[in-house]
Amino acid sequence: MEEAGGAVAGRLRRGWTVLVLLVVCFTVWPLLGAAQPLQVDRDYLIAGAATSEQAPLRACSAEALARMRPAIEIPAPQGGWSGAPQGVGVFNVFAGEVMIFHGDRQVCGDMQDARTRDSRFRAGVGLVVVPKRGTVEPIRVAWESPLKPRWIPTVHLGAPSPLQQQDTLRLVVRTACVAIALALALSALMGFATTRGRDFLIYTLVCALLVVWQAVLSGLSGYPEPWLPVGLHAPIWMVAVSALSYAVMGWVLWRMCGGRWVLRGSRRWMQVLMIVLALVALAAPLMPWNVLAWMGEALDDLFTLICMVSVGIAIVALRRGYFQALDGLVAAIPLLVMALADLMDSRLLVEFRVEAIQVSVTWFLMMSAYSLNRSLSQLRQQRDEMRELADTDTLTGLPNRRAGLRQLEHYMAQAKAAGQPLSIGFLDIDLFKQINDRYGHDGGDEVLVSVAGTLLAGVRSRSDVIRMGGEEFLILLPGIGADAARPRLEQLREKVTAQARGLKHEGLVVTASIGLAELQYRDSDVAALLRRADNAMYQAKRSGRDQVVDARDIQEVA
Ligand code: GH3
Ligand code: MG
Ligand code: MG
Repeated sequence: MEEAGGAVAGRLRRGWTVLVLLVVCFTVWPLLGAAQPLQVDRDYLIAGAATSEQAPLRACSAEALARMRPAIEIPAPQGGWSGAPQGVGVFNVFAGEVMIFHGDRQVCGDMQDARTRDSRFRAGVGLVVVPKRGTVEPIRVAWESPLKPRWIPTVHLGAPSPLQQQDTLRLVVRTACVAIALALALSALMGFATTRGRDFLIYTLVCALLVVWQAVLSGLSGYPEPWLPVGLHAPIWMVAVSALSYAVMGWVLWRMCGGRWVLRGSRRWMQVLMIVLALVALAAPLMPWNVLAWMGEALDDLFTLICMVSVGIAIVALRRGYFQALDGLVAAIPLLVMALADLMDSRLLVEFRVEAIQVSVTWFLMMSAYSLNRSLSQLRQQRDEMRELADTDTLTGLPNRRAGLRQLEHYMAQAKAAGQPLSIGFLDIDLFKQINDRYGHDGGDEVLVSVAGTLLAGVRSRSDVIRMGGEEFLILLPGIGADAARPRLEQLREKVTAQARGLKHEGLVVTASIGLAELQYRDSDVAALLRRADNAMYQAKRSGRDQVVDARDIQEVA
C-alpha cells in the first residue's frame, strides 16, 4: 500500500512539474508582448516597415549552372507576348536547383530554400514576369538532372494569381499532413505518459521520423526558415530518410498485416531488413551521385515489394480468421495504388507526387494509430474479462471468496467512515455430504445453484452474496444492524428450504445453518468479524442445525 502511495505521489509531482512548465510557457509569451505596449488610441496596427532592399532573389552558382541540363524554352505566343503578367512555377524538384529566367530577370532556388527564391511561391520555385507587349523572347527554365528518372519536375504556367493559389493549396496539403503526423505523435506521447505502453513510444518515434521525411520531400525543412540542414544535400537526405522511413513503415505494415502469424520466422528476416536499411541510411553521405540515384530507385522498388508482400500476408491472415490484418490492408492500399500509378506513368501522380506521398503516409499513420488503439483496448477488455473470471465462481456465477472478501473490506471501511452498521450471515448447508451421496454430485450442484439463486433474490446487490467455497455462502447486509438482520436471515433460511422443494428430487430436504455477526467498532479487519460469524454458524450446527445464531448470544454464553 505504502509503495503504491509513493508511486502515486511521484506521478502527482511529475504532473505538477508539467503543469508549472505549461503555465510558465503560456505566461512568458503575453509578458513579452507587454514589453512593447500597443497604443490604444489607434484603431489600426502597423507591423514591419517599408524597405529599400531588393527582394532576396539569388542567382544560381556557376557550379550549379554547369550541372544543369539544357534549359527548356517556353516560346511567346504567335504575334508576341500580350503584355499580361506570366507566372511560371516549378514543382517536384527533389534534388539540386531550378532556374527560371526571362530577359534580365532570373530566379534560382531549390526546394528547401524558402528564403531566397520568390516568396510568392512556397511549394515550388516560381517567377512572375511581365514580357513587353509584342516581344518574343522565350521564358527559359533549367534544372539539374532529377535523382530518380520517374521523379521529374512539373512546370506550371499561367496567370500569376491562380498559379499562386495552386501553390498555396499544395503548401496547405503538405503542412496539414505534417501537422496531422505531429498531432498523432503528441497523442501517442500522452498515451505513453499515462500507460507506459512501449508501443506508444515506438509509434511516437515512427511519427517523428515520418515528419522529417515529409519535411525533406516537400521542402518544408526550409519553411519558413531552414530548420533542417538539408540545403543542397537533398539527395543524401532523401536516400537516408527514405531508407529509415521504409524500414519502420515496412515493419509496422508487416506487424499490422499479421506477418508474425502467417510467415513463421519472418520476424528474423524483418529484423535483418531493418538493420540493412539503417546501414544504407548511415552510408548515404558517403555515396556518389550515381549510387544515390540507383539506391533511391532500389529503395522505392523494395518498399513496393514490401507493400505487396504485406497485402498478400494480410489476405492469407484474413482467410485464417485474423481480422486485425484488415487494418494493415487498408493502411497499405494508398501506398500500393501510388506504386501502381507510378508504373503506369500516371500524369496525375507526376504532377502531385509530393502531395500523393504525404497523403498516403498520413493515411498509413492514421490507420496504424487506429490499429494500435484498438489492439490496446482489446487487451484491456481481455484483462477485464480475466479479472471478472478470476473473481467469479463458475458453478453459481456468484462472486468467489477473493472478490467477496474485497467487497466486505469495502463495506467495512464505508460503515466505519459513515458510522453505519454492517451485518453478515455465514451460511452452511446442513448435511450436504448426505445430499451428494444420495442424489449424486450433479444433484448436489443443483442444490448449490438453487441456494445461490434464493440468496441473490433476497439481497440488494449481486455482489452481496458470496460463495465462500463448498456449500458455504456469505451474505452481506450493509447498513443493517444485527437486530434487523436476524429476521431477514431467518426468512432467507426458510426460503432456501422452500425453494429446494421445487427441485423434484424425491425426499430432498435442504436446510441451512446461519451464523450472524455485526461489525463492532473495535474490529480492525474483516477476519475478526468473519470469525464471529463462523463461530455462530458452528453453534447453530451444534444446536441442531436449521437455524440462525447471533454471535452476541454465544459471546454472552462464553
Ligand atoms: P454439516 O451439516 O456439518 O455442514 O455437514 P456437511 O455434510 O454439509 O459438511 P461437510 O463440510 O463435511 O461436507 C461438505 C461437502 O460438500 C463435502 C464435499 O464433497 C461437498 N462439496 C464441496 N464442494 C462441492 C461442489 O462444488 N459440488 C458438490 N456437489 N459438492 C461439493
Ligand atoms: Mg461446510
Ligand atoms: Mg455443511
